[in-house]
Amino acid sequence: MSKNATPNVSSLSLTSRTQYRCCWYCGRGEKILPTKLQKCGRCGLAEYCNRECQRGDWKLHKAKCKRLTEIVVEKDAKNRLQSGALKRRLDTLSEGTVILTIRDKDLTTIGDMNLAPERGREAPFYGCKSLLRVDLKGCTNLTSVGNFVFFGCSSLTSVVLPDSLTQLGEHAFQNCSSLTSVVFPNSLTQIGLAAFAMCSSLTSVVLPDSLTQIGKGAFNMCSSLTSMVLPDSLTQLGEAAFAGCSSLTSVVLPDSLTQLGECAFGGCSSLMSVVLPDSAELGDEVFLECDALLQKATLAGFATVELFLRDRYKRITLRKLVLRLLRKYNQAVNDAGGTEAEKHASALAQFPADNSGSLEVGLFLQKMNISGGDGEKGLVGYILKFV
Ligand SMILES: [Zn+2]
Ligand SMILES: [Zn+2]
Repeated sequence: MSKNATPNVSSLSLTSRTQYRCCWYCGRGEKILPTKLQKCGRCGLAEYCNRECQRGDWKLHKAKCKRLTEIVVEKDAKNRLQSGALKRRLDTLSEGTVILTIRDKDLTTIGDMNLAPERGREAPFYGCKSLLRVDLKGCTNLTSVGNFVFFGCSSLTSVVLPDSLTQLGEHAFQNCSSLTSVVFPNSLTQIGLAAFAMCSSLTSVVLPDSLTQIGKGAFNMCSSLTSMVLPDSLTQLGEAAFAGCSSLTSVVLPDSLTQLGECAFGGCSSLMSVVLPDSAELGDEVFLECDALLQKATLAGFATVELFLRDRYKRITLRKLVLRLLRKYNQAVNDAGGTEAEKHASALAQFPADNSGSLEVGLFLQKMNISGGDGEKGLVGYILKFV
């Protein structure tokens, strides 16, 4: 390799300016910590929130401590990525020793969103084992991370994405088996096919409210994933998106969801709790081989997991309705004058008898009758069953 082909990258100590910093052991960010992060005295690079965390990480960190290198790319990132120069430099360094920070405002995309699978190996960081941590926060105009870009970066433990990012390509982080945390920006709308498949160390994901699509198999076989809240913006969850996530115990799906792909949660054998909205159109065998959930449904007397979840959702919706009514009723009582009995009478009078109001009072009164309630006593009695 000629000298000219070597990118002009430098090793320097971390500066705190624009970076998202967090404890290397517990992953808590500096913003939420009571004290400043402290650096490892030997390498000056690893950072911890306290001594316990440093001790906890030492077993792993020991082997790399003095060999850690920080590479900072501040300009001309596009050429360095396209020529493969940065990748060649990274490939000369030992496994899991590189902290890569790219902060180049001119960079709009890393890799290619249309790269064909047979050319996956050509992606900028494909199979790059030296990467330990990646920080792209300073690439303030980056909108996409293309197909296969970080595929098989098996030592990569954390990645920070910038607030401008909207798309993550297919297989972008597949087989990143050490990846424990990803900070998703609030701009992200799409997570591509198999983007995080087989990231077996990923324990939890918090998806941003901007997200609308999660591609096929996006989190397939993420065997350490225990919980997932899907955001209120999500409309589509692809086929097998969370299939084989054998540690996943709870999932809350938003009302915005319209399509849930075939086998989306197939083989999630620990899954116990799911909030599934009525609006979602279900593909075939969404909950295939979800043994724990099936057992729960059977115990509750339902023939299928889907019927069980539909019923559960209706109860939750009804509870929400009752709580809204309770709040409105209490307000009306507070606003009214007179004796206690007069206050309640005037509050009840404010609830329309038909369905002209924004609240489904008809349904509410109907349920009240079923519960055997009468008047005010019935109302309070009924509400208490749900609160
Ligand atoms: Zn910590
Ligand atoms: Zn160190």
